[in-house]
Amino acid sequence: MRKIVVAVDGYSSCGKSTMAKALAKYAGYAYIDTGAMYRAIGLYATRKGFIKDGELDNAAIIGALDEIDIFFKPNAEGKNETYLNGENVEGEIRTLDAAIAASKVSEIKEVRAALVRQQQKMGEGKCVVMDGRDIGTVVFPNAELKIFVTASSDVRAKRRYDELVAKGDAPESLEKVKKDIEERDLRDTTRKESPLVQAADAVVLDNSDMTLEEQFEWLKRKFDETVGK
Ligand code: C5P
Repeated sequence: MRKIVVAVDGYSSCGKSTMAKALAKYAGYAYIDTGAMYRAIGLYATRKGFIKDGELDNAAIIGALDEIDIFFKPNAEGKNETYLNGENVEGEIRTLDAAIAASKVSEIKEVRAALVRQQQKMGEGKCVVMDGRDIGTVVFPNAELKIFVTASSDVRAKRRYDELVAKGDAPESLEKVKKDIEERDLRDTTRKESPLVQAADAVVLDNSDMTLEEQFEWLKRKFDETVGK
């Protein structure tokens, strides 16, 4: 069976990470959540006061890149958690504010270059499932299997809303969550640096009307076909 890199790209809140994690477990591969890395830099920028009135001070964050160290470390259950300069920030990076900050720092070329370098290193030995926005296009343009995940913004807003409520982080309204998702989609797809686009050789998974089991079956099939199982 050949060893491969699986690139999972797609819109926010369409269940990319749930599927990427499940596939990594099935394959015995490492799962790498690149969004967490952008979120950690967004959190750093927020804490340092680099984001004022929604505006990010680009020069300040570029100047601080050498002081930012991000890594993943498994917790007691073996689940990877995100560390920013040695501090576990896994909980703090999962809020809506952190997602918005992530999307702002992710527009900066220098931020992307630093993270892409780190991500490429993590996948050097193959056997990774990496999820993000530019994995199949920029980080691993030669990935053996590329999945592009999408779902309607109504479905994604509902999923995200339920997720936030379950975490006790109740958002204002479903409409507000949908608006945030659409704004983030717009920023992610229209930014100058590595916008979210589907790689020409990616397979599309629109999971609007699929159960988790159906999605996982689909993914397993694609994986098995690609590795020649
Ligand atoms: O995937 P997640 O929602 O955690 O990502 C947070 C934000 O980080 C995204 O909205 C996107 O702007 C940015 N991102 C990116 N490139 C990646 C992963 C995430 O630009 N590879």
